[in-house]
Amino acid sequence: MSDKRETLGFQTEVRQLLQLMIHSLYSNKEIFLRELISNASDAADKLRFEALANPDLLTKETELGIKIEVDKKQQTLSVIDNGIGMSREELIDNLGTIAKSGTAEFLDQITGDKQHDAQLIGQFGVGFYSAFIVADRVKVESRRAGSAADEAVCWESEGKGEFTIENIERSDRGTRVTLHLKKDETEYAELFRIESLIRKYSDHIGFPVSLTAIGEDDAETKIVNSATALWTRSRSDVTEDEYKEFYKHLSHDFADPLMWSHNRVEGKREYTSLLYIPGTAPFDMWNREAPKGLKLYVQRVFIMDDAEQFLPLYLRFVKGVVDSSDLPLNVSRELLQQNPDLMSMRSALTRRALDMLKKIASDKEKYQKFWGEFGQVLKEGIVEDHANKDKLAKLLCFATTQNDNDTQDQFLNDYLERMKEDQDKIYYILAENYVTALASPHIEQLRSRDIEVLLLTDRIDAWLVDGLTEYEGKVFVDVAREALDVPKEGDEKTQDKTNDENKDFLEKMQGALDDRVTSVNISSRLVDSPACVVASGQDLNTQVRRILEASGQELPESKPILEVNLEHPLIMQLSSEEDDSRFRALSNIILDHALLAEGSQLENPAQYVKSINSFLLNGTASKKKAKKKATKQKAKKKAKKKVAKPKSNEGS
Ligand code: ADP
Repeated sequence: MSDKRETLGFQTEVRQLLQLMIHSLYSNKEIFLRELISNASDAADKLRFEALANPDLLTKETELGIKIEVDKKQQTLSVIDNGIGMSREELIDNLGTIAKSGTAEFLDQITGDKQHDAQLIGQFGVGFYSAFIVADRVKVESRRAGSAADEAVCWESEGKGEFTIENIERSDRGTRVTLHLKKDETEYAELFRIESLIRKYSDHIGFPVSLTAIGEDDAETKIVNSATALWTRSRSDVTEDEYKEFYKHLSHDFADPLMWSHNRVEGKREYTSLLYIPGTAPFDMWNREAPKGLKLYVQRVFIMDDAEQFLPLYLRFVKGVVDSSDLPLNVSRELLQQNPDLMSMRSALTRRALDMLKKIASDKEKYQKFWGEFGQVLKEGIVEDHANKDKLAKLLCFATTQNDNDTQDQFLNDYLERMKEDQDKIYYILAENYVTALASPHIEQLRSRDIEVLLLTDRIDAWLVDGLTEYEGKVFVDVAREALDVPKEGDEKTQDKTNDENKDFLEKMQGALDDRVTSVNISSRLVDSPACVVASGQDLNTQVRRILEASGQELPESKPILEVNLEHPLIMQLSSEEDDSRFRALSNIILDHALLAEGSQLENPAQYVKSINSFLLNGTASKKKAKKKATKQKAKKKAKKKVAKPKSNEGS
């Protein structure tokens, strides 16, 4: 191992992050202190955990704690902990690179617009690097617990592009972060200012945070925070602001949480949980490797971050802490998985999280905020968690034909309330996007009768309705599937035209389409469009098919059913067309249009264009002919009038 002074470059992402942060967090700079104290507290937690296996690391005399020193003369602020510390390699890795996957893509979204960028950085969480918002030089001296005094390391940087690292001697275990404040940041060397910041941001930290003014004559050290882990306090003792700050410490989120739930369970199993519903999604929510899960403590000793076992995957956005009195202190991820108490804790915590969502849902505006961020994740629950399907269904929000925009803000209960008297089904359409869904021929008849249709455009929706099947006894019906039963009004019930009456025409049309469709039927769902395609029986919905094909799956060939609207002029024209080749061409164009309207691709676009062109030309040609004919007739009439004139004169 080298112990020389080395100068190393930051990873590109770190450089980008530093630049982004300094520019965009200007109005929020004081949060750096929260981030540094948070790291110090994590370091103390980690030491206590390692000491479970290696008690020598933690002697009884040294109480774990965090010290803050301000030095007005030197214009420095230091955050000192006696926690786990970092080795040379750890310092290089932790403070020179960013290990979160997807960071590069994320940082590419930087625009230079302060507000936009500040929001981005909030989703990302800045941690240690936020020190550079107020400091033009940062020094980190650290000694890893268990290593010798002369194995300590000093890391130093101006936050520009590189840092230096060298071995030093350090008598104490742990880390000291010293900020050399920028010229105009003198306030962060003021005792009272720092004291109020600690109270504001870090009162909930479970270790004592002390504050000292260096170089002052009457300098005294005092403990500033209450030094009891927040979740161990009783609910009535904790203020809203404290809950919010604790959330920020846990999640590295900048925004406030939407809701929290703090509970102590006693009896056979004893544990405390504090769960939060965030207000914004982290940048890597869709990344499989992104950390998720709760922070696990056993008898107040930190055991692990991201304990995924306590909540199902579809609740991966929930943040929080579980502190168990019963789990063994040496519990590992594997042992946790096998613990007999785990399943009951998991179902209780799931219920708690869903109860919080139910509460949020009573405030539609607030719930919209939640739904916009996490709705798609929650939908996974319908497929994943059968036990809670009914609870989850009540929490789903949809865009429907009732709205005049694509906002997903209608609950299934809203739909039920608006159902027609004789309606016993919930209608939905799956489509690529809102515009296609709304303009779809499949919903024309339903819309004309003011029957509401759910417009489903998220990728997961096909699986969602597959998992739901029914809600409060009303089955879900795909409007793009054969045999759609649209509720009829009055004498319409008897006026139905049957396929039998039009057998010849339908068969002729199917023949003209060769084997592109399984059958041609009369539609009951169309009003303005001449035709639409529907899926037959057990066939996959077109939308699902498209998603599966895009993901590389090979699917057996399937043909749609073509449904036609006998009242549409184009279909009337077709049924009286005597020229076979025109009948064939027009039938194919009608099918192609039905496919295009549902957002499908044509198998033979060139053939389609050719047919259309020929129709357009013939149309223009016949128009020209008709015009010629009309002009000729006019001329004839005129001539006739001229000839007739003298006659009339004669008679006068
Ligand atoms: P985060 O805390 O979100 O992981 P940071 O950038 O704040 O991100 O810190 C990066 C890593 O550096 C931490 O995960 C931790 O391993 C290490 N680290 C930071 N501060 C300390 C500290 N005071 N003591 C020990 N390790 C630290």
